[in-house]
Amino acid sequence: MNRQSFGPPSTRAEERAWRAAGLLVDVAGRVLPATAPPCAFCDGEDIGDTCPASLTCPTCKATPRQRCRRPSGHTAEQWHRSRVRAADLEDQRREEDGDTTLPARWSDPQLAPTPSRGTR
Ligand SMILES: [Zn+2]
Ligand SMILES: [Zn+2]
Repeated sequence: MNRQSFGPPSTRAEERAWRAAGLLVDVAGRVLPATAPPCAFCDGEDIGDTCPASLTCPTCKATPRQRCRRPSGHTAEQWHRSRVRAADLEDQRREEDGDTTLPARWSDPQLAPTPSRGTR
């Protein structure tokens, strides 16, 4: 299983710059394309990992494509942690199933399990 040789980036802009420079790879070691197609579930990019927005949120029960909501009913700025974690678990499952289209994990997995997600 390949890992990125560095990272995680501190900002999405940094990640985008690394991607544009051809520095990022998927788990099979292939260089990721310089630009990612738009995500079908959120207003971010489809970077090959599981989008939290493709899952139902365990915390606020937001359904796929719906943004997370605060208890007040207002739209939350970020995905709930439990939803991001659920997406991570789905990525892990895909990885164990031999899915080679996932982006490789950052060299320091403690900081960010997969290329920055959830705060798009
Ligand atoms: Zn998305
Ligand atoms: Zn939520």
